[in-house]
Amino acid sequence: TIAPTANFLRTIVADDLASGKHQTVVTRFPPEPNGYLHIGHAKSICLNFGLARDFDGQCHLRFDDTNPVKEDTEYIESIKESVRWLGFDWGNHLYHASEYFEQLYQWAEYLIEQGKAYVDDLTPEQMKEYRGTLTEAGKDSPFRGRSVAENLDLFRRMRAGEFPDGSRVLRARIDMASPNMNLRDPVLYRILHATHPHVGDAWCIYPMYDFTHGQSDALEGITHSICTLEFESHRPLYEWFLDNLPVPCRPRQYEFARLNLSYTVMSKRKLQELVQTGLVKGWDDPRMPTIMGLKRRGYTPAAIRTFCERIGVGRSDAWIGFELLEECVRNDLNETALRAMAVLHPVKLIIDNYPEGQVEEFEVANHPAKPELGTRKMPFSREVLIDADDFMENPPKGYHRLTVGGEVKLKYAYVVKCTGIVKDADGRIIELHGEYDPGSTNGPVTSDGRKIKGVIHWLSAPHAGTVETRLFDRLFNDPNPDRGGADYKQFLNPDSLAVLPLCRVEPSLMQAAPGTSFQFERLGYFCADEKDSQPGKPVFNRVVTLKDTWGA
Ligand code: ATP
Ligand code: MG
Ligand code: MG
Repeated sequence: TIAPTANFLRTIVADDLASGKHQTVVTRFPPEPNGYLHIGHAKSICLNFGLARDFDGQCHLRFDDTNPVKEDTEYIESIKESVRWLGFDWGNHLYHASEYFEQLYQWAEYLIEQGKAYVDDLTPEQMKEYRGTLTEAGKDSPFRGRSVAENLDLFRRMRAGEFPDGSRVLRARIDMASPNMNLRDPVLYRILHATHPHVGDAWCIYPMYDFTHGQSDALEGITHSICTLEFESHRPLYEWFLDNLPVPCRPRQYEFARLNLSYTVMSKRKLQELVQTGLVKGWDDPRMPTIMGLKRRGYTPAAIRTFCERIGVGRSDAWIGFELLEECVRNDLNETALRAMAVLHPVKLIIDNYPEGQVEEFEVANHPAKPELGTRKMPFSREVLIDADDFMENPPKGYHRLTVGGEVKLKYAYVVKCTGIVKDADGRIIELHGEYDPGSTNGPVTSDGRKIKGVIHWLSAPHAGTVETRLFDRLFNDPNPDRGGADYKQFLNPDSLAVLPLCRVEPSLMQAAPGTSFQFERLGYFCADEKDSQPGKPVFNRVVTLKDTWGA
């Protein structure tokens, strides 16, 4: 991971510590457990946990579980796993906003007693109408003038379950003419007879996000409450609650620009739709922008952390190209992944002048720049496999791979010349024939000193294992499938997944541990799928190609 770069929040925290405003920094990451985390959340995780790590503070993981109907323990577990996998630790600071329901309720009564909250019986349609517009002040609800005693009585009866869902709400009494719509008597509580995954049937009224978030921050002693820019206009309300309630401390809200990544969608609602309608194979489908999808694809935590550092943290909305994420994982795997040979679309090449039955072994480095990663032995025999892409019957000018009459270097082994093609009745190539140059093992040079331009990968046919390999393309074929005006699903790329059931690999790869990545020479980085691989029968996912194919 690259060293943390400066950003405005880092500066604010450093200044607050230097000035003594805070003794220690406390941040929080507050996901709503209504889906799996995605790469946008990774930006927030790296920011919040990164500040705590770098300034010796603490970052809390807080489940924002105020909405009882959308939540699921599967999501809770996946969120914890994602944060841990990214390399962060909340220590013993795991919280649920629902833990604060009683305190929040008491504070709601406190506001009522102060004349700062009232029970409103308007219908949702009427409330909307009374709210006014950006250019037009709102109107006071006829229930705004209720006495403290009446409000307390009604609110207690709301809690006791006397009223049906949606019949009444508790609202703050702020200013129906405020230019900030969030201050026009926002709703604090709604009636919802629903079982909560954490607190069960204890409540039939639930606090709204705005009434929960800042107070939760205050209860936990959060110093810097960092959220995305769409909450900027909520900040005055965040502060209004802190100003009007006897909170134990006064956190401050700061906003930063959310991550927008090309060729993908990031709203959990949309990701969930893709999962539920079977358009992808689960939240951890390797094409998904979820952290669990990226993990399964073969992304590394270090690559994602580096990506989050490189995109930076600012206050203006920007689009990030998917190729930057790919570059980060490519750079990381280049350092760490062992090299191996694989053939995606095998074509047999029979070397007629190589002794039948003979097998020799070439000792090959596992990593070209890291001798400490050792070597392995690659068997070579009379029948080798090459990739269909590396042979052309009628090549264009400048083609340096194999062609009839042409020569190519089989990397680490010999120079071979193609002498003929055998085809079936339909004209499809069955096998190639060739001859090798026994004195050509030292680099791409023939025994008589001619330099060979093309170097290709290969496998010994009788030794190679057979595996399923999955190649992925972008999930959407439009840079901004979420732009509105059209259903994002119409931009799904029908060719985002290609399954190659009969790829061939070096024998050693048949024992690849699930989750390990390799560079298949010339083909990209591939990870043994952590779910679908069986002992002795790996399935490989292509993490990323060797070169940027997105920009093209
Ligand atoms: P979604 O719309 O995808 O459901 P959300 O913001 O509603 O996202 P939360 O679970 O509430 O999801 O998010 C937890 C934290 O992650 C919030 O602090 C939010 O600001 C942050 N976050 C969510 N999406 C992004 C993003 N694209 N870039 C940066 N931070 C994000
Ligand atoms: Mg949210
Ligand atoms: Mg959301």
